[in-house]
Amino acid sequence: MAIFGTSIIEFDAAFPDDASCANHLLQIVSPQWECECKRPVPWKITNHSFRLARHGCGRSRSVTTGTILQRTTYSLRDVFYTFLLFANSNEGVPSTFLQSHMGLSTSSAAGLARKVRLQMALIERSRKLGGRGQIVRIECRLIGRIRTKGRKGKGRARLLLVSDAEAVAACVITKQERRLMVPFLRQVINPDSQMLTSDPAIRAQLCDGGRYKDFESLQVAGTFVDFKRSNSYQYFRHLNRCIKRTYRSVGRETLWLYVKEFQYKFNRANADRRQFWDMVQCFPAGDPAQIAGLRDESNFRRPTDRPRSVLST
Ligand SMILES: [Zn+2]
Repeated sequence: MAIFGTSIIEFDAAFPDDASCANHLLQIVSPQWECECKRPVPWKITNHSFRLARHGCGRSRSVTTGTILQRTTYSLRDVFYTFLLFANSNEGVPSTFLQSHMGLSTSSAAGLARKVRLQMALIERSRKLGGRGQIVRIECRLIGRIRTKGRKGKGRARLLLVSDAEAVAACVITKQERRLMVPFLRQVINPDSQMLTSDPAIRAQLCDGGRYKDFESLQVAGTFVDFKRSNSYQYFRHLNRCIKRTYRSVGRETLWLYVKEFQYKFNRANADRRQFWDMVQCFPAGDPAQIAGLRDESNFRRPTDRPRSVLST
């Protein structure tokens, strides 16, 4: 019998308690730590409920510093177990389920789900699509079932979808406008990719009559039928269905987290073991500035004139 995903038995064997989770986290994050004493001695977990690691010299720091779990009170094992739930579920995990399954209050369950989605978003941050001679599709789609605060476009949000033969990357944009699309496209598309779209309006926006060189190679190819065969469409259809069925409705301000959740899931659809292990195999830095940067990349607001935070990828 083929087993898909990661089983609870396997999970229990790897992470039987909080201490094993703290030790695992220490293995991942401590190689980047530099102690003031500069002595090459290892860090050791001394208090796993407070996630404290002590250096040979006596200085100590928390293993969650700089990760999404910084200053949270969730038990590490609960967080890892929630990673497993998200990893093994194809249709997403509603907060109400998390609430009863983990014995949490409404706000704690929502907070925990947010942390998990942030982790997925931070891991997907370094996603690059295309490459020399490879085809990259750029499309825009409207998604329904979105709660909005009485603004225009009620009940809907616009997604910018980019895909190549293997993966997708998506973000939320307020308008199909060049200035909102370009930063994200520059970030995810490798140079020398062959860019395609099925929508002449996107080409018109990005090239603006040849005024901009970088998107001059963007071709309008085929019809909606071509788009339907692409990863962008498969991803969009799945996201749409999950928002409708599992989450019922999603606020426009938090939609970007769901977009990243399903991007993470979609890009590992054929490697179901990675769904869970990727989530615990790296803990990218998630300080408030970086999270704000990720959220701004999904531009549900009009961009302000202030400079965008420069993020290391
Ligand atoms: Zn030291």
